[in-house]
Amino acid sequence: ALEVRLASRPKGWPTDENFEIAEVEVPTPGEGQILVRNVVMSVDPYMRGRMNDVKSYVPPFQVGAPLEGGAVGEVVASNAEGFAVGDHVLHGLGWREYAVVDGKRAAKVDGDIAPLTTYLGVLGMPGLTAYAGLLVTAEFKPGDVVFVSGAAGAVGQIVGQIARLKGASRVIGSAGSAEKVKYLTEELGFDAAFNYKDGPVAEQLAAAAPDGIDVYFDNVGGEHLEAAIESLNLNGRVTICGAISQYNADKPPTGPRNIIQVLSKRLTLRGMLVGDHQALQPQFVAEVAAWIKSGELKYSETVVEGGVRQAPAAFLGLLRGENTGKMLVKF
Ligand code: NDP
Repeated sequence: ALEVRLASRPKGWPTDENFEIAEVEVPTPGEGQILVRNVVMSVDPYMRGRMNDVKSYVPPFQVGAPLEGGAVGEVVASNAEGFAVGDHVLHGLGWREYAVVDGKRAAKVDGDIAPLTTYLGVLGMPGLTAYAGLLVTAEFKPGDVVFVSGAAGAVGQIVGQIARLKGASRVIGSAGSAEKVKYLTEELGFDAAFNYKDGPVAEQLAAAAPDGIDVYFDNVGGEHLEAAIESLNLNGRVTICGAISQYNADKPPTGPRNIIQVLSKRLTLRGMLVGDHQALQPQFVAEVAAWIKSGELKYSETVVEGGVRQAPAAFLGLLRGENTGKMLVKF
């Protein structure tokens, strides 16, 4: 069976050389464990941080060891109560064809209720990030003008649509291509969207939000955050969810240069981690699944075929913006 290991730590942008594909024996599950044949795995921006040797909210990947990450697979052998051969499970050992998973660390999922891919996307971690980050962290309320960056991505698409469905007075998104911008306004119901590569974000945001914004959901950091601070209204709120524009930087970024406006406008900038919001999962799934069923909420996925061999390329593609919606690798 194949697995992907971290061959070396990247400096700046990762390359193929930072990954190694290795052939290993199919492992045997011990007591309380299951053997899972992975069907689909997730590549996520946070994995870039885990490639660095720095202390963070998740430990770094180890050089020479397989990478980890969200995956859904089929149980092919079970020594754990509650799991039978043929069950599908969500677990944290992607980047390999076969995984031995503790029963306690696997959650059963049902492909008849929702497509298996959605447990890694709209109904999974990125969806919950959007839901909690908007409704809890940003304390969204009806009538707010909401701006979200990375708006065509897994988290961003859901943020914008939840805001619309919950009564935002205006929803604005930014993304990195004309096709993505068109998708946001024509398919997902955003009121306005712009391509951040077309010109200064501050100018494009000001044009899209003539009355300012009340909430900024930040997936990007850097120039976007500074522009949002400029456009935020009195008592505006910011969810600091991610800063993908900085993940491959080889020196620390500067700014936001206008941070003093946090004082004058009494802004709140609040960081969030999805892991702190697991208790919301049932409420989130109930609400979002109903919107998907009624057609009020749409989502997209970019699925790379070819299994683990294609996983490094899919991950690099994600960092370059080759995905619309959740980026996944199918085995
Ligand atoms: P996405 O599906 O949004 O994929 C990443 C996207 O980032 C790319 O598609 C690309 O789209 C965009 N991007 C890449 N480089 C830049 C740049 N320099 N400036 C602006 N956009 C860029 O990923 P996710 O939805 O999974 O994650 C979105 C954000 O949320 C990330 O920052 C991630 O780290 C964070 N996150 C945080 C969590 C938490 O608990 N705090 C949990 C999950 C995600 P484009 O074509 O538009 O450039």
